[in-house]
Amino acid sequence: MTADEARTLGQGLLAWYRRSGRRLPWRETRDPFAIWVSEVMLQQTRVETVIPYYHRFLRRFPTVEALAAAATDEVLGQWEGLGYYARALRLHEGARAMVRRGEGLPGSVAAWREVPGVGPYMAAALASFASGAAAPAVDGNVARVMSRVLALPRPRLAASARAVAGAIEAMMAGAGDPAEVNHALMDLGATVCRARAPRCGVCPLASLCRARSGGDPERYPAPEARGRGPVLAVRIHVIRHLGRVLVYRRPPGGILGGLWAFPARFENEGGLAVEIPGVTWRAERQAFRHVFTHQTWQVTARAGDVARPGPAPDPTRWVDAPAVDRLPMGRPDRRVWAWARELGPATVTL
Ligand code: SF4
Repeated sequence: MTADEARTLGQGLLAWYRRSGRRLPWRETRDPFAIWVSEVMLQQTRVETVIPYYHRFLRRFPTVEALAAAATDEVLGQWEGLGYYARALRLHEGARAMVRRGEGLPGSVAAWREVPGVGPYMAAALASFASGAAAPAVDGNVARVMSRVLALPRPRLAASARAVAGAIEAMMAGAGDPAEVNHALMDLGATVCRARAPRCGVCPLASLCRARSGGDPERYPAPEARGRGPVLAVRIHVIRHLGRVLVYRRPPGGILGGLWAFPARFENEGGLAVEIPGVTWRAERQAFRHVFTHQTWQVTARAGDVARPGPAPDPTRWVDAPAVDRLPMGRPDRRVWAWARELGPATVTL
C-alpha cells in the first residue's frame, strides 16, 4: 500500500467513523485507568454486557489507588456475573503493582507492557486511546478487516502481522488521529466487515480492498482449526449443617480461580472432593451445562445434610447460609446454590 493510498483510506475511514462509529462510555474519557478497566472487561465479553459493569466498577473504584487498596473479595464481588474472573484478579494485581512502584499510570506501549496482565494488544490500545500513541491495536475484528484489505489469509503470522501493523501506521500518519483510527477499524469490523456477509457496499475501505476486488471477501482470513475442549462431568455438593454451608476458595490461576465454591467431584480430576462422614444426601439434580472457553461442565447438583460434622476439612470452612449470597462465586456454583437454597428444611428425598 502506498503512502497516498494509506492517506486516502485513513481519511475515508475517519470520515465514516465520525458519522457511524459507536459512542461508548470509555471513548468519552482519556483517563488511562478507566480505559484500562474497559479493555480488561471487553476481553471475551460483548460491549452491551460490559457497559453497566464498567459504570458500577468505576463508581466503586474511581482510581487505581482505590482499586489497589480494595480487598480481593470486594473486587471479585464487583465483577460477579461478568465471568472470566482471572481478568479481575490480574487487573487488581496490576493496580497493586502500579501503586507499589509509585510512578503513576503508564503513557507508552513499553510502559504498559511492564504491568502484570497487560499483553501486546492491550498495551497498544491503552497507549493509543489514553495517550494518542501511534500504536496499531489489532484485535480479532481489526485482524479480519486488514486480512481482507491486504488479502492476507493469515494475518497473525509474523510477516503478515508486520504488514498489517505497517498499513495501520501508514493510515494513522495520513489521517492524523491514531486513537480514532484504532476505534474506527474496530467498529468497522464489528458492524460492516463482519465475519459473514460483509457490507462492502457501505465500506469506506472498499475502493482499495483487495479481497473485495477478488470477488469473495469471506475467503479471508483463512479458517482456523478450533478444538471445542473437553466436556467434564462435575458433581457439585452443597453440604449443610444447621443453617451453615461448607465452602472453600478455589486456588488462584485455574478456572474460576480465587472464587468461592462448593466442594465438587470431577469425572477426571480437579475440583475439591471432600469426605464428610455421615452426610444424608437428600436431593440430586441433572442440572445444566456451563460452557467455558476451553472446556464444558456437565453439572450435577447434590444437596445433603450432616448431623454431627466436626471441624471443616482443610481448605473448606463452614459459613452461615445467608453469607453465601455475598461470597464472590462462579456462575455454576451460584446456580447450584440457587437450587439448593430453595430446597428448604431437610424434607426432600431422592
Ligand atoms: S470492502 Fe468489504 S471486505 Fe473489504 S474491508 Fe470493506 S467490508 Fe471488508
